[in-house]
Amino acid sequence: ATPLSITIATGKAATLGILVRSAQALETAADVDAVVLDKTGTITQGTPQLVGFDVFGAWHGRERELLALAADAERSSEHPLAAAIVRAADEGAPVVGIAAGNFGVGDADGASDAGAEFTAIPGRGIVATVRGHVVIVGNAELVDDHDVGMPESAGESVDDVFAAIDHHAALGHTPMLMAVDGLLAAVIAVADTVKPDSKQAIAALRSRGIDVVMLTGDNQDTARAIAHDVGVDHVIAEVRPDAKADEIARLQADGHVVAMVGDGINDAPALARANVGFAIGGGTDVAIESADITLMNGSLTGVVTAIDLAHATMRNIS
Ligand code: ADP
Ligand code: MG
Repeated sequence: ATPLSITIATGKAATLGILVRSAQALETAADVDAVVLDKTGTITQGTPQLVGFDVFGAWHGRERELLALAADAERSSEHPLAAAIVRAADEGAPVVGIAAGNFGVGDADGASDAGAEFTAIPGRGIVATVRGHVVIVGNAELVDDHDVGMPESAGESVDDVFAAIDHHAALGHTPMLMAVDGLLAAVIAVADTVKPDSKQAIAALRSRGIDVVMLTGDNQDTARAIAHDVGVDHVIAEVRPDAKADEIARLQADGHVVAMVGDGINDAPALARANVGFAIGGGTDVAIESADITLMNGSLTGVVTAIDLAHATMRNIS
């Protein structure tokens, strides 16, 4: 039978917006000594905005047209990065690097191409055929796999591409590469906002002697910049979606009792693998179903509260 104190603690947690699925989850939470945090949507809000669009070659002066192509390639994707690109194109909002008043043939009216074809590659990006063009938007790995060349017309080199990527990553922006018909076309950068209490919650976990780890598929430098802002010094970045659970297993093999906090489809196996999985309420259903505890208000402070409640409860029992 479940001890009365756990039943009471579970009820108390629920009033605080922390939904605990089992007595076992609360018991285990008292032993957690490492908390792994997904970045996008967990530490950050998960609704990134377009902040940079650096174009190359023949695309100078045709930024709107290129952004519309990127958006049409991304329309089929449910990734937050895709949503940022689609929103920027559809809103026609001025963005860094976009020349004002430059509306080309494929202008950003949001009309998608009926003949478009898409392949989403998890943890890498998207390859699409849009209006007869092969459009790739994703990370460096994805572009490397498709033999993308550097356009020669504008006197730019790959160094200019790396400079754009580094510039954005150092600011904590997520850089993506875009190629059209085998030629590099743009570096697209989006920025996400850290949730208001992430930093405070991370400090609270660390003050309790808990190791805090950031786990993300994003660029290493981007992840480090955000980790630095929120006070996390252990970063595991550029992790493929199917390898996130392996990182949890590695920490467990090192003797840690691990809590994982995440919101995405990508996080589900890691949430299931962790000793205690915390899902962000409002995240994907798969994440919530794979987790032991759901944080209804989406705030990381809920993890601290749950662990504190677990300690107080287990002290009463033993
Ligand atoms: P996260 O850990 O933030 O959920 P993912 O594993 O989903 O990251 O993606 C890792 C990287 O792959 C992204 O930072 C991005 O560079 C690239 N990527 C993934 N999906 C897309 C997409 N739809 N469009 C462009 N790039 C993408
Ligand atoms: Mg996420």
